[in-house]
Amino acid sequence: MLKIKDLHANIEDKEILKGIDLQINAGEVHAIMGPNGSGKSTLSSVIAGKEEYEMTRGEIVFENEDLTELDPEERAHRGIFLSFQYPVEIPGVSVTNFMKASINAHRKSQGLEDMPANEMLKLIREKSEMLEIDRKFLSRSLNQGFSGGEKKRNEIFQMAMLNPKLAILDETDSGLDIDALKVVAKGVNKLRSKDNAVLVITHYQRLLDYIVPDFVHVMVDGKIVKSGTKELAYELEEKGYDWLKPETV
Ligand code: ADP
Ligand code: MG
Ligand code: MG
Repeated sequence: MLKIKDLHANIEDKEILKGIDLQINAGEVHAIMGPNGSGKSTLSSVIAGKEEYEMTRGEIVFENEDLTELDPEERAHRGIFLSFQYPVEIPGVSVTNFMKASINAHRKSQGLEDMPANEMLKLIREKSEMLEIDRKFLSRSLNQGFSGGEKKRNEIFQMAMLNPKLAILDETDSGLDIDALKVVAKGVNKLRSKDNAVLVITHYQRLLDYIVPDFVHVMVDGKIVKSGTKELAYELEEKGYDWLKPETV
């Protein structure tokens, strides 16, 4: 599904990604861990096509299509979803209306008409029940006064509504409580199927108790320095990251 080869990327002329190789097949869940500042968020932004980042070498291929020339919107329309680390507040727009707008924007890009209202309601009901989102939440103004956990819930709700082929979840560095972790895990586990793939970027080994990844990668200083199975996450919890860092002079 996703093939990344020798990816190098800069921000403001500073090289952050220094040769990433990563292959994600349909049906797989991958986790990326690593110390703060190692380039994990940069990688997710570069996959999503954010314009502040300059790809200087390598390639990103999604379903046999080179993504290099596509803007973030076009990538989203191909089925790549990136969770937003810092969600926007939109006063006056309810959660429900935001979800309708996202779905219809997605359909429009595929040349489809708006989803019929009854079908939309059914979808919203189905997905909100699946994630145990109550009705009051649906009529609230988007992200306004939301707790960290509610923001997460909203984000995962949007992911469930859009049903992306590849979901990239980049966790914030700040603490998420256990309920928020469970919401994320539940959304991801429901999305898991032989046709979808998930890339979870996290500091929390704990999250991986709920989302059991097929592969774990460790990123240090812009490179994937080690890959393994979920056991690697436990090893990291025990030993930290220092043993994987290149020797400093
Ligand atoms: P991680 O997600 O692993 O914590 P990031 O990808 O956020 O790492 O950051 C990698 C490096 O890039 C850090 O040194 C960070 O300071 C730098 N960086 C990230 N975003 C920007 C930016 N917008 N402008 C300049 N430097 C940035
Ligand atoms: Mg960081
Ligand atoms: Mg980050």
